[in-house]
Order: sequence, then structure tokens, then C-alpha cells
Amino acid sequence: MGDLDDLYQELILDHNKSPRNRGELENATCKAAGHNPLCGDRVTVFATIEDGIIKEITFDGAGCAISTASASLMTESLKGKTLEEAKALFKGFHGLVTEETEETEDGPGLGKLAVFSGVCKYPARVKCATLAWHTVHAALSENGDTVTTEDDE
Ligand code: ZN
Repeated sequence: MGDLDDLYQELILDHNKSPRNRGELENATCKAAGHNPLCGDRVTVFATIEDGIIKEITFDGAGCAISTASASLMTESLKGKTLEEAKALFKGFHGLVTEETEETEDGPGLGKLAVFSGVCKYPARVKCATLAWHTVHAALSENGDTVTTEDDE
């Protein structure tokens, strides 16, 4: 196993086995779907925004352990956050898994999301980890189109 232990941390395995906030959100004010064709991961993110705050956020879909755990942990991290904080977390998370971290002085801490730091060593897995984040970004930007991790290539 060796290095793979970095990737499949206990917290990731736990969130894959019992994802949090999974299922459709009936009164969602925004939603978006995402697809990572390289791995076959699909995720739909639902959110209820009130006064600029993410009141409720859920996801649904099917994918590999990394994509499921990432979506699950993402919903936990974003619930109760303002849209600005959500954007900062998206940036911070993206930096973490792509190793393009810029020193941020007053951004929110990544907390549990730091378990994904091992992902940067596995380029194919980075897209699995970021899929839910790209999807929520689309949902919050009220861009109802399906996003794909292959957009920017
Ligand atoms: Zn995947």
C-alpha cells in the first residue's frame, strides 16, 4: 500500500461508506450537475441560499471513493457558510489538491478538508476530488449547465 495510505485516509473511507447530506434537497434554490468522464464520477449538488448564506446543501450521484468522500466532506464544510466563504474554501481546496496553494492570510481554515492533501500526488484523482467543488461553484453561480472536469483542456 505505502503511499496509497496518504490517499485513502480513514476519514475519506468513512465518508465514502456513509456519505453525509446525501440525497435530493426538495426546496433547493440552486443546483448543478457535474461529470468527470475520466473516472465516471457523477454528482449533483443541491443548495438552499438565504440572505447570502448556504442554509442547506446536499449532493447525490455515484462515483469513486474519492469523489463521494469529497462531496460529502464538502457539504459538511459549506453548510452555514456565506457565499464569500464558500468561494474562499473552493480556492483553498483547489490549491491544496493541485499544490498551487497561495498563502492566504484570512481565508477560512480548510479543517477536515486537509485529508485530501495526499491527492495532489495522484493527478488522475485530483479531478475526482475537485468535481463536487466545481459543481457547487456552478450551482452557486446560477449556472445550471452540467459541468465537466474536462472543460479547461
Ligand atoms: Zn473518481
